[in-house]
Amino acid sequence: MEGTSGGLLDRLIDELKKLPGIGRKTAQRLAFFLLKMSAEEARGLAQSILDVKERLRFCRWCNNVSENEVCGFCSDPRRDRTRILVVEEPSTLFAVERTGEYKGLYHVLIGSLSPLDGRGPSDLNVQTLLDRLKQGETKEVIVATNPTIEGEATAIYLTRLIKPTGVRVSRIACGIPVGVDLEYADEVTLIKSLEGRRELT
Ligand SMILES: [Zn+2]
Repeated sequence: MEGTSGGLLDRLIDELKKLPGIGRKTAQRLAFFLLKMSAEEARGLAQSILDVKERLRFCRWCNNVSENEVCGFCSDPRRDRTRILVVEEPSTLFAVERTGEYKGLYHVLIGSLSPLDGRGPSDLNVQTLLDRLKQGETKEVIVATNPTIEGEATAIYLTRLIKPTGVRVSRIACGIPVGVDLEYADEVTLIKSLEGRRELT
């Protein structure tokens, strides 16, 4: 179908192919689906993409996505400020939040350590975590990085950094299959992992 659409459709397909998990076939299917949408629906989709880019930013404390400088969790006085749960991505934060079992604060690293991919400590949002610990309210950091090689390496790295501050560091329990992103774990498994967390030494 290349070269037959006057370029516009090809361009849309090329843009869609940049999304994770989308190959050429899926991109073509999505492009034709979009073509069949009403103008109003298409405008709504395009606008919501622009809104996310223009109006969302990262919370200055925890790096969660937020419409304001400080996110809803960090500014909520009802949250337990003695605990910080560390996740790799905001999507895991939302998965934990859906369980309704955790009432503390969060910290989003935006990634994990992966020397093979060239991601080192400076690529993680770690300094703001240490700054938060210095404020003295935190009693426990719960490391909820993914049960992957990168996630485990990140947990060990964080433990070494945090231990000297005197704050307790714990790692959520196993029960989540190795190699599976936490955001895909079901709620019961997530709750059990949180309850069964053990202190890291
Ligand atoms: Zn925040």
